[in-house]
Amino acid sequence: MVEIRAPEERTCTACGRSEYWDEDAENWRVDDEVGDVYCVHDWDVTGSFTPVEK
Ligand SMILES: [Zn+2]
Repeated sequence: MVEIRAPEERTCTACGRSEYWDEDAENWRVDDEVGDVYCVHDWDVTGSFTPVEK
């Protein structure tokens, strides 16, 4: 069993855009929902990142 750290994800609370962190590209990538391109994006993440561990 290989444990892989869950990627960081974020979702805009305004338009619903969802992104995930691409470690290889070191950049955010659109996960599924593109949302509103004109939205300023209000991400549902705060300064403290909480990793998901089970
Ligand atoms: Zn947005």
